[in-house]
Amino acid sequence: MTNLSYRMLYIGGAPAGLLGLEELFDALYTADLDPNHEELPAQIIRGVRQHNFIPKPAVADYQDVLTREYQKYYRDRSGGKAVVARDYGHWQGFPREQIPWFPVVSADLCDGCGKCIEVCPKEVFEMNEDGKVEVVEPFLCIVGCCFCKGACDPKAILMPDRSLLDTFTHGQRPGT
Ligand code: SF4
Ligand code: SF4
Repeated sequence: MTNLSYRMLYIGGAPAGLLGLEELFDALYTADLDPNHEELPAQIIRGVRQHNFIPKPAVADYQDVLTREYQKYYRDRSGGKAVVARDYGHWQGFPREQIPWFPVVSADLCDGCGKCIEVCPKEVFEMNEDGKVEVVEPFLCIVGCCFCKGACDPKAILMPDRSLLDTFTHGQRPGT
């Protein structure tokens, strides 16, 4: 059996685990597919569907996020940067991707002040073309941190309740 890469992305407001994304991007890059080609989003969706289930109502969200990811991949690789699957590490013995601790930003409330980006020690946020902040790397968020929420005057940032972390203790959930 082939070992496919595994990567978590934040799509449509929820984490999604995807198999074979690095292999797909490598194949598209090797075929010299321009990151702005109009057929790219459809091609990515076809490729991702070979190893993953994408619910129909979520296709547009997947297209947006995966096209942006391929554009980053293309930029990095064309610039000679080594492209490797990201390792988010572990927390209390669990792979970081299994801990649902990260901010959620309300686009309606965000005024684009950028304070969250200033206070965050990681590269969790990015400002989008609409002048709103988006969460682009949820699993870089430090488990237990809440800095950005406190810095956001319009209260556009939600963080999970700390009690969520009580269910993850030293590699074993209570009751398991
Ligand atoms: S601090 Fe709040 S309002 Fe300011 S950019 Fe971040 S999310 Fe938006
Ligand atoms: S909680 Fe902390 S680490 Fe996580 S996004 Fe906010 S400032 Fe960054």
